Amino acid sequence: MDDQSSDFLTDYLNTPSPTGYEMDAQRIWAAYIAPYTDEQHCDAYGSTWAVLRAKGENAPTLMLDAHADEIGFAVRYIDDNGFVRVERLGGTDAAIGRGRRIRFLGTDGEVIGITGNTAIHIRDDGDKAPKVWDLYVDLGCDSREEVEALGIRVGTPGVYCDGPLMLNDGRRLVCRALDDRLCGYILAETARQLKEQGIVPEWNVIFANTVQEEVGCVGAGMLAFNLAPDAAICLDVTHATDSPGLDKGRYGDIRLGKGGCLCYGPACHPNVNARIELVTDAAGIPLQRETAGRSTGTNTDSVYRSRMGVPSACFSLPLRYMHSPVETADTQDVQSCIDTLVAFVRSLRVGDDFRHRL
Ligand SMILES: [Zn+2]
Repeated sequence: MDDQSSDFLTDYLNTPSPTGYEMDAQRIWAAYIAPYTDEQHCDAYGSTWAVLRAKGENAPTLMLDAHADEIGFAVRYIDDNGFVRVERLGGTDAAIGRGRRIRFLGTDGEVIGITGNTAIHIRDDGDKAPKVWDLYVDLGCDSREEVEALGIRVGTPGVYCDGPLMLNDGRRLVCRALDDRLCGYILAETARQLKEQGIVPEWNVIFANTVQEEVGCVGAGMLAFNLAPDAAICLDVTHATDSPGLDKGRYGDIRLGKGGCLCYGPACHPNVNARIELVTDAAGIPLQRETAGRSTGTNTDSVYRSRMGVPSACFSLPLRYMHSPVETADTQDVQSCIDTLVAFVRSLRVGDDFRHRL
């Protein structure tokens, strides 16, 4: 990762992008990918995409997707003493919600608050995990009026403050929202690699950074309908199962540092999967496997069933501690995912068709 990449990633991660409020992050992503692509667009709800045009006319189109949104909170209620109650945006984990720093996106700019943590000595529920409605945010105010004067209203979104941190000399990256901003980074770096290697692909390539995945894979479904791609690879994070207390018999064997993870199941088209296996095998890129017997819980679910069906793969970056402020990924896995996507795009030929045939 050179300085340019690392500056972009830091900026992109430090920018809050709670579900439904992704535009600040989208503008940073679009500005970074612009020099490496031919066009950049955004739709009504903010899903943003960049197009790398193919050599010839009438080329098929590949959509590479990641999601720009992150889990967070929204203000539900402000009490007379100036404490703020919240609801979750997406799958926020209330169990780890106490004693945290939060950035609210107020009407007059950012406002920092902390979630209160009643001392263990005087707490009735001892070690019991709180419900989301038990959490309360302290903004340093003594009344509702004071809170409102800071630009905080019912509905104001917020995210944890936690920014990027490297462990073990750059081997592991820790941050909130690596799900799925790190995959948005992978898409942007894939575009950059293709450009810097002077590759003009035989298919059009759409790099899509979609919104509102955390509330039901919404933006990707809208965009797949809009752009009608001929094939897709949806990039998200998947649970690494190599930290203590996880049963491999129940959750599979997925490790940090062993490469990207390809999913097998009804949502995942065998012909797209076969191509990913082929190109990674040929280039010596490591690849892990997982299975999803029904849906994948990623944008793949909404992309593959769009229109008449889009042959799609669910390709994931292994991640520890998902939906927490200390999400952890391996930096070699990030490079390996970029290498996989570059190899996949380079392999595409105008005549390729991933659909089943009799
Ligand atoms: Zn995700």
